[in-house]
Amino acid sequence: MKIKILGTRGEIEESARFHSKKSGVLLDKKILLDFGEKEFLKHKPKYILITHLHPDHAYFVRNNEKPKIKIPIYAPEKYDDLNIHIINKKFEIEDYKITPIPTIHSIKVKSNAYLIEHKNKKILYTGDMIWIEKKYHHLLKNLNLIITESSYKRKGGMVRRSKAGQIFGHTGIPNLINLFKDYTDKIIFMHFGAWFYKDIRKSKDFFKKLSQENNLEIIVGYDGLEIKI
Ligand SMILES: [Zn+2]
Ligand SMILES: [Zn+2]
Repeated sequence: MKIKILGTRGEIEESARFHSKKSGVLLDKKILLDFGEKEFLKHKPKYILITHLHPDHAYFVRNNEKPKIKIPIYAPEKYDDLNIHIINKKFEIEDYKITPIPTIHSIKVKSNAYLIEHKNKKILYTGDMIWIEKKYHHLLKNLNLIITESSYKRKGGMVRRSKAGQIFGHTGIPNLINLFKDYTDKIIFMHFGAWFYKDIRKSKDFFKKLSQENNLEIIVGYDGLEIKI
């Protein structure tokens, strides 16, 4: 699979060259994972898969703009009168097998990670998250690559609790590594939080250290990064 990272900025004001676009990943020039910027359409994807309906992953939620496109959009839930196909079980796009895996992230919107299998390769793209319930971990075996978020550098991230006791927010990068390191040896981090922009060189060193400590290949995503697996 050919993977092109289109946008690596989280839902923050900060910006920098190569880290200015909101979430988007293009798979084999065909499947767009997350739709953080309208301009991603210039790549002419044939299918769009959205992890959740927050504006940095679905640009049209921000100003209630309706994308006028004919290609199918898949997401965990409907939005307004947009023609969205709800994904709640394994399905296929051409010869790609796609399994939605619910992530814990928000109270207001549903969120999925997507496990994508194609020609003996398996990747996981997560969007935003605190955690994936244990009952889904069996799906995560032998992943060639995980692409995940980096909103918070610190352990524990930013997790809050509603009055009803539900948790929401983002976990920290160390927690994501602990969760994922048993299932892959390669992780691309994207969706950077404000911490990353304070000193990008130092932020890259932080990832380098984690990579050595965990014996993992860690790739710091940037807008335009292309890799093949
Ligand atoms: Zn979100
Ligand atoms: Zn986000």
